[in-house]
Amino acid sequence: MPLITPFDPWKSKYCTCPAKYSLSAYTGCSHDCLYCYASSYIRNFSHPRPKKDFLKRLSNQVKNIPKNSIITIANSSDPYQELESSFRLSRGALEILKDFDIRLNIVTKSPLIARDIGLLAEFKNITVSFTLTSLDEKLAKKIEPGLPYSPQEKLKAVSVLSKKIPVAARFDPLIYPLNTGEIEKIVKALKRSGVKQIITSTYKVKPDNLKRMNRAFPEYARLWKSLYLNKGERIGGYDYPPLALRLKIIEKVRKVTLSEGLEFSSCREGFGELNTANCDGTSLSKL
Ligand code: SF4
Repeated sequence: MPLITPFDPWKSKYCTCPAKYSLSAYTGCSHDCLYCYASSYIRNFSHPRPKKDFLKRLSNQVKNIPKNSIITIANSSDPYQELESSFRLSRGALEILKDFDIRLNIVTKSPLIARDIGLLAEFKNITVSFTLTSLDEKLAKKIEPGLPYSPQEKLKAVSVLSKKIPVAARFDPLIYPLNTGEIEKIVKALKRSGVKQIITSTYKVKPDNLKRMNRAFPEYARLWKSLYLNKGERIGGYDYPPLALRLKIIEKVRKVTLSEGLEFSSCREGFGELNTANCDGTSLSKL
């Protein structure tokens, strides 16, 4: 089974990512984010496990990847979830990949990544996309119950990383109305922590993630039903909120981001014309 696979093989209508590959040491994820999309298509998602013979297979397979390719670690699990503290397979992958001519993009929401800053800084071409959804500790804990770090610990990790490598922040997803009141505060805090770009998108409904969201926030169940299932649009298997609401929220993030002098991009919204940089942060890397 290939470990390094082409990203977005279904070519989603709204995906504006450059061609790239995905790699993950783990199947499933322990962060248990209520809004997670990957849980709808990966079996036993909340029982994460390391991939069999991962490092040995990676050493063999990476030789076949064309030079200068972008490899993202990871698109459907967090490479720095709790398993990484003991298995250290994401770190092992970095040790292998650093000898190859590739462009690396790490996607995580875990401060554990700061452990590897020395190794990450050895890559000639690297970007980190670090996710932060709220600065409100209670809200963050509620929407990402398996992530054992506070928003302040996340910002601290971003500061450590951004001193040595380019960091984009994923302020993502924007869940109306849970975290959309924090736009200004979050963008400014991320800027102070050294990020160069803000990437954002609105929450999209899949039946399983809506069930989790409704269970945790019963007071918003009617609103989300109305916005997503009655007035929203079905695009590529996801229920989107109404276009006018999406545009309003995304434009607000864009306005604050640009006024802070940062690059901006939206992800899978169909608003590519609003982006000032690659939608995945990879244009920040040194060429
Ligand atoms: S970190 Fe990503 S993959 Fe893991 S549960 Fe959260 S959204 Fe899903």
